[in-house]
Amino acid sequence: MIKSVEVKPGCIACKTCQGICPQVFRVEGTSQVIGYDFEKYRQALLRAEKMCPVNVIKVDRDDTEETGDIFAHVTLTQYADLTPDVREFCFSTAWFSALPGQYVSLRMRDGAGEFKRSYSIVESSENSFKLCIKIVPDGRGGRVLSRLSVGDQVMASPAVGGFVLRDTPLPKVFIATGTGLAPMIAMLSATPNTVPKTVIFGVRREEDLFYLDTLRSYSNIRIVTTLSSPRGTWLGQKWRVTEYLDLVPPDAEVYLCGSPDMVESVREGLRARGHSESLVSAEEYVDQSLAPASDERSWFHRAWFDGEVPGIRPMQYALFSASAAVPILWYLGGFTPMLWDWSWYAVTLLMLIRPLADLFPRVMFFRSLLPLRQGLGILSASVVATNAWFAYIPNASDFLSTYFSVSHWAFSNRAFFAHGAELAGFVLLITSNEMSRKLLGPWWKRIQRLSYVYFFFAGVYLLYIGKTIVFPSMVLVAILWLAAHLKNRFTSPS
Ligand SMILES: Cc1cc2nc3c(=O)[nH]c(=O)nc-3n(C[C@H](O)[C@H](O)[C@H](O)COP(=O)(O)OP(=O)(O)OC[C@H]3O[C@@H](n4cnc5c(N)ncnc54)[C@H](O)[C@@H]3O)c2cc1C
Ligand code: SF4
Repeated sequence: MIKSVEVKPGCIACKTCQGICPQVFRVEGTSQVIGYDFEKYRQALLRAEKMCPVNVIKVDRDDTEETGDIFAHVTLTQYADLTPDVREFCFSTAWFSALPGQYVSLRMRDGAGEFKRSYSIVESSENSFKLCIKIVPDGRGGRVLSRLSVGDQVMASPAVGGFVLRDTPLPKVFIATGTGLAPMIAMLSATPNTVPKTVIFGVRREEDLFYLDTLRSYSNIRIVTTLSSPRGTWLGQKWRVTEYLDLVPPDAEVYLCGSPDMVESVREGLRARGHSESLVSAEEYVDQSLAPASDERSWFHRAWFDGEVPGIRPMQYALFSASAAVPILWYLGGFTPMLWDWSWYAVTLLMLIRPLADLFPRVMFFRSLLPLRQGLGILSASVVATNAWFAYIPNASDFLSTYFSVSHWAFSNRAFFAHGAELAGFVLLITSNEMSRKLLGPWWKRIQRLSYVYFFFAGVYLLYIGKTIVFPSMVLVAILWLAAHLKNRFTSPS
């Protein structure tokens, strides 16, 4: 008997469990248990537990009935390179059945243990299926798959997923980026000739396009291929797929597949055009590299690659407490230059975490530090805002002359940088809370970019007052940010 079902921290919202057992799981942000008739949905529940790519579903049973392995050996029969980094794989299997749009999970093993990755099915028959997979240079799955030879075997799940073609006569629009085209091919093949079809397919460059002949082989179809980073010779469409949403007929069913960012932007664009949400279905290629790895590895290995760093939460609390302690320290001890130093070290750490996490995505240690950024930001802003507050409260006219006199804002004046940092710190401090995040909507993120202003102004001010150590820190942060920016720009899917 099943006693309880729990979703442990680490869910990547891939919706696999919801697709398999919607009566028990609903994914809103992360997966939630919404139904409690566990015995009735026993088989689906156990399958969801096995299929979760990050193994965070725990089904507590008081029986020892062996559920059997739903993964089966499949054999590579053929492969072909479709683009410099997309490879098509054909597998044979004893028996197979899939609805157009579904995907399989492949269970693989490398030096760091066992892991799973999901791949949409391009085409299938009773005893074979075809996948097309982007080989991400530092990807675990890509690395294992790119080394397979014909005749090699991997373990594959049955076809699953709720992203399937609806059987209606409505016009259909398929919007995909990169290998998001895979399930669209399966859906297009199953769409009757009489149904008008539009495909909006986005990639970065011309050499990334694939399956164009397959697309042209369907009748009653309009194809838009668009490049987000075209080279000089390209005469076709440019920009991202979101630029072509005006081509979507108001009554069309829309199928989206690709990165979560792309899916979200297209959804937003369709919403803004008044397109009914009930006509939109999507599959997001969520990042599964966040999966906790097997337990065979050492603590250091797990901390480095899985981000299982002990004490992150206590550190968060310590940072919030330190922020609260700043005004008290100021009150007891008055202004000390040490407070500015604290503020600077906190903001420098904050500025280092994001680019390190982007530049070294396999090093989960850096990612696990991401939640500390809020505490560091608050601590840093708290220092400057406290300093400004205590300095001006006793003397309002001083405050007015400081902030409203032109001479104070002369660029060559060190006060310019101190007050610029104060203002930025103050705005950051009052907006660093959930209520502001909700109220300000998309503006919140833009306002948070003031942390760069703060970092730069506070840094220059400290240089003025002789803290030379600040200069190499600023250069290091600038180099890392530039490198991360370039990496994201040239490696993210269109
Ligand atoms: C339901 C579903 C269906 C999917 N179907 C397909 C499919 O048909 N074809 C396919 O290629 N992928 C598909 N994916 C994505 C796939 O499962 C893997 O996430 C992807 O192939 C990367 O896996 P990896 O192990 O090679 O890299 P990982 O080890 O998971 O990641 C390594 C690094 O590469 C980054 N990264 C991951 N994906 C990309 C990307 N596409 N471009 C650039 N950087 C990336 C990660 O953020 C990480 O930093 C699907 C995902 C889901 C959830
Ligand atoms: S990661 Fe696991 S728990 Fe989260 S949605 Fe996917 S299958 Fe469900």
